[in-house]
Amino acid sequence: MDAAIDSVVRENRAALADPETYWRTAAEELDWSARSGPVFEATPEPPYAHWFRRWTTNLTANAIDRTIAQGGGERVAYHWEGENGDRRTVTYRDLDGDVRRWAGLLANAGVAAGDRITIYLPMIPELPAAMLASARLGAVHSVVFAGFAEAALVDRIHDSASTVVVTADGGYRRGKELPLKPVVDRAVARCPTVRRVLVVRRTGSPVPMADGRDVWYDPAAPAPAVPAIPRAGGDPLFILYTSGTTGRPKGVTHGTGGYMVWAHRTMRRVFGITPTDVFWCAADIGWVTGHTYIVYGPLLCGATSLLYEGAPDQPTPARWWELIERYRVSILHTSPTAIRMHMSFGERWAGAHDLGSLRLLGSVGEAINPEAWRWYRTHIGAGRLPIVDTWWQTETGGTMVSPQAGGALVPLAPGSATLPMPGVDIHVVHPDGTPVAPGDRGLVVIDRPWPGEMLGLWNDAARFRSVYFERFPGRYSAGDFARVDENGYFWFLGRADEVLKVAGHRLGTIELENALITHPAVAESAVVGVPDEIRGEVPYAVVVLRPGFEGTPALAKELQQAVHTAIGGLAEPRSVRFVRSLPKTRSGKIMRRVIAAVVRGDDVGDVSTLEDDATVDEVRAAAHSLRAEL
Ligand code: ATP
Ligand code: MG
Repeated sequence: MDAAIDSVVRENRAALADPETYWRTAAEELDWSARSGPVFEATPEPPYAHWFRRWTTNLTANAIDRTIAQGGGERVAYHWEGENGDRRTVTYRDLDGDVRRWAGLLANAGVAAGDRITIYLPMIPELPAAMLASARLGAVHSVVFAGFAEAALVDRIHDSASTVVVTADGGYRRGKELPLKPVVDRAVARCPTVRRVLVVRRTGSPVPMADGRDVWYDPAAPAPAVPAIPRAGGDPLFILYTSGTTGRPKGVTHGTGGYMVWAHRTMRRVFGITPTDVFWCAADIGWVTGHTYIVYGPLLCGATSLLYEGAPDQPTPARWWELIERYRVSILHTSPTAIRMHMSFGERWAGAHDLGSLRLLGSVGEAINPEAWRWYRTHIGAGRLPIVDTWWQTETGGTMVSPQAGGALVPLAPGSATLPMPGVDIHVVHPDGTPVAPGDRGLVVIDRPWPGEMLGLWNDAARFRSVYFERFPGRYSAGDFARVDENGYFWFLGRADEVLKVAGHRLGTIELENALITHPAVAESAVVGVPDEIRGEVPYAVVVLRPGFEGTPALAKELQQAVHTAIGGLAEPRSVRFVRSLPKTRSGKIMRRVIAAVVRGDDVGDVSTLEDDATVDEVRAAAHSLRAEL
């Protein structure tokens, strides 16, 4: 067996055999105000564990004060660039001042430990500062992606019963000004729990300020001394409403101790981060990837990050590569959907810039198709950089399955997230819960609690139990479909509810899409199942072509044949249709269920509950044009 594989498997086993020792050692790399009692305690109810129940700590003290105490005060925490070209450098000492200023404002608004605040900001340095201020006071933050509209904001403020909303006059996105305060004003009018709105001046656009309710954030005000409140391991740190690819948003709630240890450990292991790296996770902080790998993970490691406000193609598709060159970025972590977007722009944009500072690439959010993996390595990674494909979920707090550049790096396989992280007891099973044979497809379960696991769903214990723990009693059901090969490598094949069942065979949507995208004409594709009397279901492919290709019947045949050759006759799409774009969530994930509804002629109907009005409109528009095109 490969030595790296052997070492990773061994460490995983050791962590599972003795979680108490393994996680105590990991936790001791961080600062705690009290360490009493066990690290891990099994409980009879989901999530079947308490982590660090009687240990106390403060996330912000670990993320900022610790680095300053170690002499890192002048180190850059964030290089920030606005879409409009504004620039700012925030050292750990600057960030400390910003956080105390925010904490003072929150405390003045009556925010105390356990209270919830909603943060609705663009990607500006005030966003991490406000999150960290909340954590410093022991409050619970709920960050709402600034692309969401009023209805989504209202739902999230209501569900969390937030007393304070933090926002800005506006932000910049895709060359346009994004008004935020007006959205908050309309939302807050419907949210009686909110007593204070704190406002950052970003665009300078005039906004009305409600007397007694609205307060400007003043970056020049003196920063008060605000003590970091010790929190117990199981106290909530944040609520994050999931992107909602599948339905009504869930208030995933993460705790203090276990989440902190997981964010720190996975940051170090997956990226091998050091204080000399310049790390760029190009996600939005409004998604969990941003919480863990823009805010908590990098700061807990005392790292330097790049924070960029805007779109990848503003003002030109070279923007990302300019940023990497300017800030000497050493690690780029992004999503397959972003990589495919850059592929469609063409490699000349990256080719014109010096990307020589890069040493590692990461991928997160969806399965990365081998074609995009290869493009990423060839054109961004100089043909040789490792790519860490990280599988995880909002619910898991941080990376669960991934190559570890900061540990033993296993041989990479394009399209596979490789092996589980230490302490992750993940398996692929049949619907009856029995293990599948190597290479066979099945459902993903996690058999034992891990420190980064969510505490629950805010205000909804019944849904927490039914979504995650009922399908396989006592086991966490991830809702994904995967296979494990003979090396123990995981290949994630899409969501379990999107799996196709053709003549009794289960096929992952990703497998078919990978086969299609290998064809030079294909930029993106989505495969869905349509009912069939004989086979139960048959695949149906929707394809976006690369510039310069035409969607002819001959090309459709060629693509059907490509799937036939790659996977087999059963997998061959009954039909291949060409469209201009695919409906996606705000975080860039393809909404296959919407496509399936259109293809089957069902009502796309119920997208309204899951995203903001704008996205619903976008999805409907995409569905509409899809229907017209089909
Ligand atoms: P919701 O649960 O609200 O419908 P979501 O599942 O899209 O939304 P996230 O928690 O952000 O929200 O995404 C986690 C999911 O993303 C995983 O369950 C998996 O389907 C997919 N995913 C993430 N990373 C990878 C990866 N590296 N490879 C394959 N799939 C991935
Ligand atoms: Mg999910």
